[in-house]
Amino acid sequence: MPSTPKRSTRKWLTSLGGKFVLLVASILAITMGTSAIINYRADTQEFLQHLAAKGKLLGNFIARISPDAILSYDFVTLDDYIRDVTREPDLVYAVIISPDGANMTSYLDEQDSHVADAIKTLGTKHVMAVIAQINSKRDIIPLNFPIVFDSDKLGSVTIGLTRQRIDQLATRELMTQLLSNSFIILFLGICIYIVFRHNALRPIYQLITGSERIAQGALEQEVPVYSSDELGSLTASFNNMIKKLKATGAEKDHAMLELRELNRTLESRVVDRTHELAALNVQLEHLALQDALTGLPNRSLLLDRLEHGISIAKREARPLAVMMLDLDRFKEVNDTLGHHAGDQLLQEVGRRLCGLLRDSDSVGRLGGDEFLIILPGVGIENSILVAEKVQSALEAPFVLEYTNISIAASTGIAVYPTHGDDNTTLLKRADVAMYVAKQNRHGYFVYEPSQDTHTPNRLALMGELRSAIENNELELYYQPQIDLSDGRIVGVEALARWRHAEKGFIPPDEFIPLMEQTGLIKPFALWVLDTALQQWAQWADAGMRLTMAVNLSMRNLQDPQLPSQLSALLKKWHTTRESLVVEITESAVMSDAASVMDILRKLNSMGLQLSIDDFGSGYSSLNYLKKLPVNEVKIDRSFITDMATDKDDAVIVRSTIELAHNLGLQVVAEGVENAETLATLEALGCDFAQGYHIGHPLPAEQISQLLSESESGVTFEKARVCGP
Ligand code: C2E
Ligand code: CA
Ligand code: CA
Repeated sequence: MPSTPKRSTRKWLTSLGGKFVLLVASILAITMGTSAIINYRADTQEFLQHLAAKGKLLGNFIARISPDAILSYDFVTLDDYIRDVTREPDLVYAVIISPDGANMTSYLDEQDSHVADAIKTLGTKHVMAVIAQINSKRDIIPLNFPIVFDSDKLGSVTIGLTRQRIDQLATRELMTQLLSNSFIILFLGICIYIVFRHNALRPIYQLITGSERIAQGALEQEVPVYSSDELGSLTASFNNMIKKLKATGAEKDHAMLELRELNRTLESRVVDRTHELAALNVQLEHLALQDALTGLPNRSLLLDRLEHGISIAKREARPLAVMMLDLDRFKEVNDTLGHHAGDQLLQEVGRRLCGLLRDSDSVGRLGGDEFLIILPGVGIENSILVAEKVQSALEAPFVLEYTNISIAASTGIAVYPTHGDDNTTLLKRADVAMYVAKQNRHGYFVYEPSQDTHTPNRLALMGELRSAIENNELELYYQPQIDLSDGRIVGVEALARWRHAEKGFIPPDEFIPLMEQTGLIKPFALWVLDTALQQWAQWADAGMRLTMAVNLSMRNLQDPQLPSQLSALLKKWHTTRESLVVEITESAVMSDAASVMDILRKLNSMGLQLSIDDFGSGYSSLNYLKKLPVNEVKIDRSFITDMATDKDDAVIVRSTIELAHNLGLQVVAEGVENAETLATLEALGCDFAQGYHIGHPLPAEQISQLLSESESGVTFEKARVCGP
């Protein structure tokens, strides 16, 4: 919007220059105005003095010349006198009065406004009244002079002078002075403004435009310095500030560049990391779902596929076959040729199975030497054909460690919907079928309800187990343990045996899982403890100090009553607490850490010895063991039995002994089957040993005999006895 002249004037007046000019002009105006007024006063005074002197001169002159005319009553001459006097410009009236106050002669200047006014109101007859009214005016100066002759007063002369003319004169003088003063003020004001503008305003405007430039980011131009005064130093410091700003600006630009560079690097790192993470994720998913050894789907992926397969089978009303496959001599391969060969075997089996199947089929490893095959759309008859194909695919010998090995497999088949319509049922039934195939050496077997473990047959066995304790069909055998430092028998492990009236000897590996399934395991454990401690007491009475190791299953450790029942039994048989060793398998310890840990702590606080059985067969670390209140580890016999021939096993045994000792634990080696193994264990500093080479599990009487021989100095080598 264009600025109007009014607005720009106002702007100028409020600017620094305008304010300065106004200030200077005001000062000048006040000074000069004051002096003009003083001059005016002085002039007026001077004029008045002149007027008064002139009046006196005139009055005295008339008073001096008048007596002759008065004495001779020559009024014409008196009139002439008066008329002469009245030619004076400032005289308004003149009058000669007799001593009695009568007017002898008079003159009135009718041109004067006061005289004209008085005559207008009073007329010319009463001259004295007119004169009195004129005298009442402020600007009239009346002067009276006596007329004396020989000291006789003949009358008086009165004249009236007006100030009007001298007032006008003085005013004109004043106006002239004021006018010239105004010119002087204007001139001086302009000069001062020009000087001020050059010396003060210019640097200030330069600074203003300089700061406006900075505000717009232009830092190149400096403001010129015009003087060495305060403004000059202000400009210099302003320029300094620009330089600093320029420097920090450059630093800032540099920092911005670096920041941008950093940002770019960071972004590319993030992108790289994201790719890496995605790759890792894929790998992890793969790891989570693939079996590491064979690269086949693992258990969880198989279960997922089975569930998916069943739902599709349901939708399409088609069958689905589940085949569970277990290698028959896998353990043997593992034990004789080593784990490496076992691994190779599993990989090769996986490869052969994959080669047999269609894309829609799935094959994976459930764990150990167990494989699972899922065949969508396949019913019972076709699944038998596949099972036969599997048989023949595995018939060709496997080359492991330069040795040809023949391996057979047992396959259990369960088919949807005939044998079940959910994951769990189908898998359980395929498992039962596989078990039957293995037992009967069928190669493969299609599930039949009559073979199921939960069938009346199985239930009958469980029922028999219940009465087995009362019927004394169960008994304890004892296997000796020796101290490797001196070869003496220092303890025994109690191992349960079941002699079935009709079926004969049933191994504990078979009936103990049954007991665990039913809850019989609790009374069974109490029976074992009672029997073992009674036996301990007998041996103690006979003077034989032994440790008694008893096996407890995981179910027993979950029983909160166990510690108190145990305590009662210890009291009953007066057993010294440190003589009872409770063996718990590694898998039990690892399974349910919190509650098991609780019972273990209680048992430990009761003063019992705790031993980790089958150590090394599971996945526990010695580090974890450190946190457990245990006294002893019992190295799994699979490592001990093979250590004489398998270097890997020997290394495991050696390091386990070392690490356990470092943790303050004692080490028992079980499964010692030959003298060589025994010697090696002794050399490795193992504390105790147990195994067929030292002694088989035996009934109590035979152990008693063995012990008495040992007591009388017979070492275990002579005492070797055979038993079941
Ligand atoms: P375990 O606790 O590891 O017991 C050692 C097993 O190794 C015993 O088998 C024993 O006879 C066997 N053994 C001993 N020396 C040798 C040897 O030199 N070579 C080989 N190859 N084996 C040897 P057993 O008596 O058949 O017991 C099997 C498993 O049954 C035991 O393994 C234990 O877990 C369980 N068990 C036995 N008795 C009881 C019991 O009273 N209660 C519980 N809960 N489990 C028991
Ligand atoms: Ca044991
Ligand atoms: Ca064991």
